[in-house]
Amino acid sequence: MDIFNKCENYSTARDAQAIGLYPYFIPLSENEGTETIYNGKRLIMCGSNNYLGLTTHPEVQKAAREAVTRFGTSCTGSRFLNGTLELHERLENELADWLQKDSVLIFSTGMQVNLGVISSLVGRKDYIILDRDDHASIVDGARLSYGDIIRFRHNDVLDLADKLSRLSPDKGKLLVVDGIYSMEGDIAPLPDIVPLCKDFGVRIMVDDAHAVGVLGKGQGTAAHFGLTGDIDLIMGTFSKSFASIGGYLAGDKEVIDYVKHHARSLIFSASIPGPCAAAALAALQVMKREPARIERVNKIAETMRTEYKRLGFDIGNSETPIIPIIIGDDTVTLKTWKMLFENGVFVNPILTPATPPGRQLLRTSYMATHTDSQLDRVLTIFEKVGKEFGLIH
Ligand code: PMP
Repeated sequence: MDIFNKCENYSTARDAQAIGLYPYFIPLSENEGTETIYNGKRLIMCGSNNYLGLTTHPEVQKAAREAVTRFGTSCTGSRFLNGTLELHERLENELADWLQKDSVLIFSTGMQVNLGVISSLVGRKDYIILDRDDHASIVDGARLSYGDIIRFRHNDVLDLADKLSRLSPDKGKLLVVDGIYSMEGDIAPLPDIVPLCKDFGVRIMVDDAHAVGVLGKGQGTAAHFGLTGDIDLIMGTFSKSFASIGGYLAGDKEVIDYVKHHARSLIFSASIPGPCAAAALAALQVMKREPARIERVNKIAETMRTEYKRLGFDIGNSETPIIPIIIGDDTVTLKTWKMLFENGVFVNPILTPATPPGRQLLRTSYMATHTDSQLDRVLTIFEKVGKEFGLIH
């Protein structure tokens, strides 16, 4: 049996391309943040994670440019060996201060944080407890670990309590939840999760990839609920509000030190280049200095949620700048995506198996830098497309 047989037989992407309904790997020729250009055509970007709009901020761009001159384009090695810059450590210290944690460790991506942290902390005799809607990188981190994986129904604290009550008290336990869920924009109920975990001796890690820069005055989901001291580990990424690339883990010094010397995705992978670290640091400084940006993205999100609901769209339980338009069918989701695209709005179609059957959706997301007129236009086009496909009346 040729191992490549599955590749020859794989036609899903080709079939979608043949009928003009392929929504992935769209090559953009320019990206100005709130607007982007594909094939000479301008689109309003409602499909990024650039929540604070900082990828185009002059200070962030200047920091990256200066860092290219100072550090070159790459570290060409792991943090562990030749790839640690003073700049990485400065960024770690400033982030620890912002997140009100002892210590921070920077990885090359958020994906690598989840892979490395979970697999290094959760051993053969431990449990790793996941929400069913946790991000793929958390699931893969759990699979890489040797622990027993326990999954509870999405945001269902009763199911979590039931699952925890069945676990052996003698084994180590780590629960990992997203702060903001990346597809539907709902928030983990930390005020209910924290006391339960305390009762059962479970350590808590929150994936705050989408929440730092957005919730809790920018300090994330734990800060939003006033629970920073109760969350053991916070991980995040620089690929969203921080306008760069990279990932980080924040927590107690001994845990960070252990992970630093055990996480294979950290040790065996090159560190983020100086320009990426400099951009993230500049973004953090803007985030701290300009709370109005954080207020603006949340205000926009509130307005958009209200407007989508008023038009009759199903937006699930979103409470954040990630607003799903739930459609519930793969083909209709792709067709609405295409019509929006042709009318100048960029959103992301989320199909099965990335979402359970019946929850197929258009993922829309917003930036502090979107103008009111851009958003009005997005709503007008959504109304037209929604009526065309009978999603609203
Ligand atoms: N966690 C969540 C919830 C995410 O949405 C993502 C990225 N989409 C990641 C982790 C991984 O982050 P990165 O892009 O830095 O690999």
